[in-house]
Amino acid sequence: PALIGPVIADETLWACTTCGYCEHACPIALEHLGKLYGLRQHQVMMEGAFPHELKTVFDNYESQSNPWGLPSDTRADWAKDLDVPLLTSAEQSRQFDWLFYVGSAQSFDDRAKKVARAFVRVLRAAGVKFAILGPQESSTGECVRRAGNEMLFQSLAATLAETLNRLQVARIVTCDPHAFNSLKNEYPAFGWRGEVLHHTQLIDRLIAQGRLQPVPRSERVMFHEPCYLGRHNGEYEAPRRVLAALSKDRPLEFALNREKAMCCGAGGARFWMEETLGTRINVLRVEQALQAQPLVVATACPYCATMISDGLAQKGAAERVQCRDIAELVADALAGPVPAAT
Ligand code: SF4
Ligand code: SF4
Repeated sequence: PALIGPVIADETLWACTTCGYCEHACPIALEHLGKLYGLRQHQVMMEGAFPHELKTVFDNYESQSNPWGLPSDTRADWAKDLDVPLLTSAEQSRQFDWLFYVGSAQSFDDRAKKVARAFVRVLRAAGVKFAILGPQESSTGECVRRAGNEMLFQSLAATLAETLNRLQVARIVTCDPHAFNSLKNEYPAFGWRGEVLHHTQLIDRLIAQGRLQPVPRSERVMFHEPCYLGRHNGEYEAPRRVLAALSKDRPLEFALNREKAMCCGAGGARFWMEETLGTRINVLRVEQALQAQPLVVATACPYCATMISDGLAQKGAAERVQCRDIAELVADALAGPVPAAT
């Protein structure tokens, strides 16, 4: 008998954000996610039955290697006036410490572009030698894999892995925990291996090395944990150390934090699907935040930032509570006058 429908409702299959909490909480260590991906793959690739919103997203990834369908040759336009070096040859790779893998959100989404620009300022302040791929950058495909389009994922992964190998990229830093997870854990299967750091991990290192000396300027900051950094990759402390270094007081915590943190609702390609069942996840997460009366909800993921910002707006709290990426808070905390908005 068919599983989807009689046993697992269609909306249940597509409601999962792939946050990983069920696997973490399961007392007998059941691994649900692999099975869920298998079911989604069957629906997408064998049945052609998936939420209608994903059709455009898949088409856009296929034609322009980003979910918005914006021209892929404009990927580096966010950095046009910043004079960021482009990595164009393998010989050049040796001149740089890190490749900054920007990702689709920070290349094309106006809010997320500001985070990329803030991170550039942070890297420069620390004297880090880095480059970007610019128009040669393409999507990791993480989102389409979570959405069950394994064939498209494999094609995107093969393309990006080929670029990284051709340019002999050995070390990548990214502000997107979804890209971080994919490059670190999934790309070795496509022939690319190297060191991959999330930007909060690199910033944490730079502070520890004394190369960044943030001036504590923030107050009542509360960290919303990206599940692809925390639960999926076990990194809970680096972002907290960074926030502690730039805060005047002790950063706040969600009641559900670290391994128990609740997802923002965007993972598993849910970012691109309408949410019609129950309470919106981002609103619920913001309600949890507001209990502690933060002035800033700090994020470390472009999709979390959108979800939390929307949740704050829906709760009428956007005036009194800011949503900022950790890179932006660090950029603001660099010595000297408070920098102008990027
Ligand atoms: S949303 Fe999270 S907790 Fe729920 S099934 Fe998916 S991975 Fe598990
Ligand atoms: S957007 Fe953030 S909280 Fe949401 S699934 Fe991704 S990492 Fe998790």
